[in-house]
Amino acid sequence: MSGFIEIVYFVAAVVFILGLKKMSSPVTARDGIVWAGVAMVAATLVTFFSPSVYGHGFFNLLLIVVAIAVGSYIAYKSAKSVEMTDMPQMIAIYNGMGGGAAAAIAAVELVRFAGGHDIGGGTVQLLAVLGALIGAVSFSGSAIAFAKLQGLMNKTLRLPSHQALNIALFVITVLFGAILAFSGEVGGFTVFLFFLCALALGVMVTLPIGGADMPVVISLFNALTGLAVAFEGYLLGNAAMIIAGTVVGSSGTLLTQLMAKAMNRPLSNILFSSFGSAGGAGEETVEGTMKEIEASDAAVMMAYADKVIIVPGYGMAVAQAQHKLAELVQLLEDRGVTVKFAIHPVAGRMPGHMNVLLAEAGIDYDKIYDLEEINPEFPTADVALVIGANDVVNPVARTNPDSPIYGMPILDADKAKNCIVIKRGKGSGFSGIENHLFYAENTRMLYGDAQKAISELIAGVKQL
Ligand code: NDP
Repeated sequence: MSGFIEIVYFVAAVVFILGLKKMSSPVTARDGIVWAGVAMVAATLVTFFSPSVYGHGFFNLLLIVVAIAVGSYIAYKSAKSVEMTDMPQMIAIYNGMGGGAAAAIAAVELVRFAGGHDIGGGTVQLLAVLGALIGAVSFSGSAIAFAKLQGLMNKTLRLPSHQALNIALFVITVLFGAILAFSGEVGGFTVFLFFLCALALGVMVTLPIGGADMPVVISLFNALTGLAVAFEGYLLGNAAMIIAGTVVGSSGTLLTQLMAKAMNRPLSNILFSSFGSAGGAGEETVEGTMKEIEASDAAVMMAYADKVIIVPGYGMAVAQAQHKLAELVQLLEDRGVTVKFAIHPVAGRMPGHMNVLLAEAGIDYDKIYDLEEINPEFPTADVALVIGANDVVNPVARTNPDSPIYGMPILDADKAKNCIVIKRGKGSGFSGIENHLFYAENTRMLYGDAQKAISELIAGVKQL
């Protein structure tokens, strides 16, 4: 039977990796999710045939089945009802659960080890401690990230001597971990202190991080959870956990690096400085006024343009304006206007958020451009149409070294000949700072909900 279980784990791991590969393109991503899901279900089911599960008796089996049923029900219900714009918090909390589960497995084994039981030798003990540390940090850190994204707590919180406290906490946690890994029979209280410190470390590291850094942090915790699961896979001798954990850990690390690069900031800066804090310090007063434009005038500008570049952002997602937008694009193209989309890597509230929405509305992939590709084209665009985007087009990121978003690459909408911004009012973006683009000479504000404003633009173009 154990040979059969190993084969299923292996096949599940291969299908999981292929599923992950499919997720790299919007065309095949849906299939990829199904493939990876089926592989995980197969790996979970076959585990029931392992002596380590049924060998512990009926009550144990019942507990596992009840836990899976309750977890699946909650996950199904919440995934069905979650708004697209609330996705990051959902990812953060589920990701944290993965870290917490890995840490819980380690806790059980470490308590046994601290009580004098053999849990598999020196390497396994060390891996158990590492998995516990990483899993616990990911769990508590993700919980804080969830609370911030859900608006349940202040975006950034920095205690006096925060960095020194973090370093002290880290050293103490590692010391407890070393004691646990290398000396037997230390008692359950040491395990308790170790976990307490690791959980506190996750909280302390995440508290000062906010604003534009949140996507990178969520991605980092995702990678850490993968690593923790892989380490605990060694502890349990479970090949599926080792492979899936390693794949999630490595792909998560790559995503984290890519996102940090997109923000033009080394990961160490994100973790150890308070970039992205919610406004305040470093903001200069903005000169000029916001100039309003009527939808009919904006429609004329766009209908007679040669080239229009559209910059979608979080507000387009809130308004669910992508379908109306597709209609507007079709009308403009029918008139001979070249239309391109400029996508910032952190636009919206999750990686790939805008790509998903535009794909849903049937926009061709070859009209969608990344930041590096499209930025040189802004000066040649007659109109840059910014729809519910704010932080990702804020020029202070280029000009003001004191700004909390200084250094983040932005889409150069301000360099277009004309810029039209659709938003409801004077609301700030996720990072909470003023946007100088809205006050620029060549910018006009088209106020209103994005879906409504685009409908008015469509009506305006149709009348010409
Ligand atoms: P922002 O959050 O900077 O700005 C969104 C703008 O949309 C607001 O200024 C708001 O102004 C406007 N808006 C809101 N609702 C509507 C509506 N119904 N119709 C029209 N406009 C609306 O969005 P960006 O996409 O520019 O930037 C994303 C930000 O989110 C970045 O700071 C990024 O770091 C952060 N983030 C990104 C994540 C990711 O993975 N992509 C995850 C977590 C955070 P008003 O209220 O006046 O309408």
